[in-house]
Amino acid sequence: MLAQVSPGEIRARLPGAPPEEPEPFATVLQDLDEVLLPGVTHWQHPRYFAYFATSASEPAILAELLAATLNSVAILWRTAPASTELEGLVLDWTAQLLGLPGGWHGHIEDTASVSTLAALAAAREATGREEVVCSQEAHSSVDKAARILGMRLRKVPCDEEFRLRPDQLGKLSDAAAIVATVGTTAATSVDPVAAIAERCERDGVWLHVDAAYAGAAMVCPEHRWAFEGVERADSLVVNAHKWMLTPVDCSLLWTARPEAFRAAFSVVPEYLRTPDAEDALSLSEYGPALGRRFRSLKLWFVLRHFGVSGVRAHITGHVESARWFAGKVDADERFERLAPTELSLVCFAHRTGDDTSERLLEAVNASGRAFLTHTRLHDRYALRVAIGATQTEHRHVEALWDLIDSLAPN
Ligand code: PLP
Repeated sequence: MLAQVSPGEIRARLPGAPPEEPEPFATVLQDLDEVLLPGVTHWQHPRYFAYFATSASEPAILAELLAATLNSVAILWRTAPASTELEGLVLDWTAQLLGLPGGWHGHIEDTASVSTLAALAAAREATGREEVVCSQEAHSSVDKAARILGMRLRKVPCDEEFRLRPDQLGKLSDAAAIVATVGTTAATSVDPVAAIAERCERDGVWLHVDAAYAGAAMVCPEHRWAFEGVERADSLVVNAHKWMLTPVDCSLLWTARPEAFRAAFSVVPEYLRTPDAEDALSLSEYGPALGRRFRSLKLWFVLRHFGVSGVRAHITGHVESARWFAGKVDADERFERLAPTELSLVCFAHRTGDDTSERLLEAVNASGRAFLTHTRLHDRYALRVAIGATQTEHRHVEALWDLIDSLAPN
């Protein structure tokens, strides 16, 4: 679960220089087993409830092996026609699955951090403005992207349920983009995207929606309420590598305005020149990287192996388990829930105070039987139970509750 090692311990057990002569592979694998594995925090464990899960599944793992074997490098359409065209198709399929508007341009970046960076660069290109606006609960990747791009960041206060307050957006005449979050990292709160879209349209501001974690829930029609207004976005990021059975890295980035991305990122030196018809398909012209991996293969395998019904069942099961867990917390006098449970995250605290909550979290993690992380909500220490790992079934959530029940003081 959470690796029980100290910083530097793994490195200290390995030689400081590479071997002069080839080593038998069995020795390498032995070191993997004996030295590296004890230093692995198991994101794939069914009782992994930390941060947000990244969810690898068998077909996607196989696709990773094949992608590495083919080692296709999509710098241009002609260097990787299958990878490039499958990427377009898989993004179109997933757009249908999530109920997004038809005709959006989609491509894959490694992480949501890079997707947001790319979207903000496109927003600056499209608007000629330099300010980025987001809520106080937006992910730190927005701060980082603004810093890298040299754009000014302005944070807007949230309401009691951690949602951006549109009445606090203020003057937007200098704003290049508003980043709205559907499913914030701390509490899975849902910004009022439709109201934000209204302001963006009125003031000529680019709307980027960060649904890195929660976007996968759009596969279930019953969760689409949370995404009202997303169809009015200029760009949207959803990480398939969070809750869609696909291992890191696979961040899906759609835009209604691909020409702005091309304007921001297309740099074609002589050695990369090809006929125009090919150029239009080169996905390296829509983001920061030139060399691009064959990432679409894993999501294609996932969609074909599980089908829409399988992906839906995965999400639905986790949301139901989260609601069950929230019910247990609510019914227990020792605890208090600190945020609404919109999807598969439950945030709660021990009523006796931060120290008890923190000790409880440490005890859970030290037990090696589950891994949880924390956040601060309403200025209180909150335990987060984020359900989303591929192998997590309801019985694992019940086991977590039993563990917490046994470790929590009265
Ligand atoms: N946005 C949100 C809402 C997140 O929760 C996260 C990570 O958890 C990110 C962005 C950053 O994702 P990545 O690690 O793919 O950059």
